[in-house]
Amino acid sequence: MAADSYDAIVVGGGHNGLVAAAYLARTGAKTLVLEARGTTGGAATTEAPWPDAPEFRVTRLSYVMSLLPATIMNDLQLERHGYKIFPMGPYYQAFPEGGSLTLYEEDSQRAYDEIARWSKRDADAYPKWNAWLGGLADVLGPLLLTVPPAIGSRKPADLAATLRLAWRHRGLDVRTIADVTRLMTMSIADLLDDWFESPQIKGALAVNGVIGTWAGPYEPGTAYVMAHHSIGDVGDGRLGSWGFPEGGMGAVADAIASSARANGVTIRTGAPVAKITVAPGSGRATGVVLANGEELRAKVVVTSLHPKTAFLDHVGRENLPADFTADIEHWKTRSGVVKINLALAELPDFTANPGTNLQEHHTGSVEMAPSMEYIERAFIDAREGRPALRPFSDGVIPTAFDKTLSPEGTHIMSLFTQWVPSEWAAEPHQDELEKYADRVIDTYNEVAPNFKGAILHRDVVGPYEMEHDYGLIGGNIFHGELSLEQLFHMRPAPGFADYRTPVPGLYNASSATHAGGGVCGIPGMQAAKAAIADRRKTARARRR
Ligand SMILES: Cc1cc2nc3c(=O)[nH]c(=O)nc-3n(C[C@H](O)[C@H](O)[C@H](O)COP(=O)(O)OP(=O)(O)OC[C@H]3O[C@@H](n4cnc5c(N)ncnc54)[C@H](O)[C@@H]3O)c2cc1C
Repeated sequence: MAADSYDAIVVGGGHNGLVAAAYLARTGAKTLVLEARGTTGGAATTEAPWPDAPEFRVTRLSYVMSLLPATIMNDLQLERHGYKIFPMGPYYQAFPEGGSLTLYEEDSQRAYDEIARWSKRDADAYPKWNAWLGGLADVLGPLLLTVPPAIGSRKPADLAATLRLAWRHRGLDVRTIADVTRLMTMSIADLLDDWFESPQIKGALAVNGVIGTWAGPYEPGTAYVMAHHSIGDVGDGRLGSWGFPEGGMGAVADAIASSARANGVTIRTGAPVAKITVAPGSGRATGVVLANGEELRAKVVVTSLHPKTAFLDHVGRENLPADFTADIEHWKTRSGVVKINLALAELPDFTANPGTNLQEHHTGSVEMAPSMEYIERAFIDAREGRPALRPFSDGVIPTAFDKTLSPEGTHIMSLFTQWVPSEWAAEPHQDELEKYADRVIDTYNEVAPNFKGAILHRDVVGPYEMEHDYGLIGGNIFHGELSLEQLFHMRPAPGFADYRTPVPGLYNASSATHAGGGVCGIPGMQAAKAAIADRRKTARARRR
C-alpha cells in the first residue's frame, strides 16, 4: 500500500471524528484523521485565551457533559485515557427583584421546600413532572441509539427497518403516544403552562428548551429540545448526569484521541481538507485533497464536518443528486449564541445567598433566566435584528470542582448566552459583542454586586468566530438546528439519516446526523459502524 493510501480517512478531528476513527481502527483499519485547526476537539475544546494569563484555561465553547453513552465510554476505555467527570450541582437562579431558587435534582424534600417558597402548587407538581418526563425519556432515549429508517422507501431492507421500529414500539398506549406527540410539537412555554404557575419555576425549566436554538420558548418544537437535553438513558444504561470533565471539555476530546491513537490512528492537525475526491465512473469516494494540494487516497472516507461544508464545498453539487443538494442547501443552521468566558478573582457573592466562599449554589448552573418572558424578550430582540438588551445566560463555574483550570483561589466562569441576530455569523461585530457581554455581566452584577469587580479577564466568542474559526456554519452549535423538520429520519436529509451519503464509500459522522449535536459521540460511532458493516458485506459478496 502506498504511503499516501489508507483504509479510512476521517475529515475533522472534533470529538465525533475521533470517535469514528477509534472505532474504525479497532477493526484493524489503517486510519488517518485530518483536522484543520492546530488542535483536535472542535467545539469540545479547552483553551488559554489570554496570552498574558496562560494559567487560566477555559472550556471555550461547550461546557458540560451529559449524553455520552456508556457503550462508547466502555468500548473506547475512556476512563483509562483520562476521562473523569465531576457531577454538577443544583440549578440556581438569583432574581433581580430579590430571592433565589435552587433546584435540587437528587433531594426531593429540598426541591419541594425550595419550590414551595414560590408556589406550593408547583412544589406538588414538580415530582409528577419529573416522573412524566422520565417516562417519556424511557421511550425517546433508546431512539437516540437507533439508526433512523428511510421512512417512505420501498426497498425491502428499508421497509423491514421501518417495521422493526414500529414493532419495537407496539407496547406504547394511546396516552403515551399522545404525550410523545405533545412533546414533539408543543412549545416549552405552552407545555410548562400546563404544569406550573410560578414564573420562577417556568423560567428555570424553560432554559433547556432554548439552548442552542434559533427559537424562543413560545415556538413549537422547543419542548422537544428540552427533552433532548433531559434524557437520562439511551438504552445502554443510565447516562452520567450532567457533569464537568476534569481539564474542561478539551480533556474529553483528548481522552478520545488518546484511545484512537492507542488503536493505531494517525492524527494530523493543521491539515485542512479542501475536497473529497469521487471516482468519475462509479461515483465512489476515493480520498481527499488537502488545502495545500496534497492528495490522499482511502477506501472509506468519513466526514464529520458541517453538512454544508462536507457536501456543497468538499463533494460538490456535480457529484450529488439534485434533491439531496437542495435539502443541504435548505438545512437550517442558525442560533445567535454568544459564549462568554471569564477568569474571576473570587466567586460571585449573591445578595440572596451571601458569601464568596464556595457554596452549593456555585456548583451547578448559575442562571440568568428569571422567567419565560425574559427569555422570550431576548429572542424577539434578536429576531428583530438587534442583540438582546437583556440576554439570558446559562452559567457554570467548573472550578468549583476542577482545580486544573485556574490558580488556587481563582475561578473560571463560563456563560452560554443568547441571542444576537443569527446574521452576525457573516461579520465579526466585535464592538457590539463586547457591549452585549457588558450587559450580560451587568445582569449578574445586579444579583451579585461583587461580580464585575471580580473579573480578571474576559473572552467573548460570537457566531462569526464560531463559523470561521471552528467550522460551525451560521454559528449553530449543533451543525444544524434541532427543529422538528431536522430530526431523526430527516437529519440531515431524508433517505440519508443512516450515516451513509449519496456517495458510496463516504459516511457522515457530523452532529447534523441523528442523536447529534452535543458531545455524545453517537454520530461518530454510528458512521464507523455503517462503514464497517458495508465493508464486511462487500467482502462477503466477493467471497461468494
Ligand atoms: C458555544 C457552544 C456551547 C456548547 N455547549 C455544549 C455543552 O455544554 N454540552 C454539549 O454536549 N454540547 C455542547 N455544544 C455542542 C457540542 O459542542 C457540539 O455538538 C460537538 O462538540 C460537535 O462535535 P463534532 O465532532 O460533531 O463537530 P466539531 O466539534 O464541529 O468538529 C468538527 C471538526 O472539523 C474541523 N474542520 C472544519 N473544517 C475542516 C476542514 N476543511 N478540514 C479538516 N478539518 C476541518 C473543525 O476544526 C473541528 O475540529 C456546544 C457548542 C457550542 C458551539
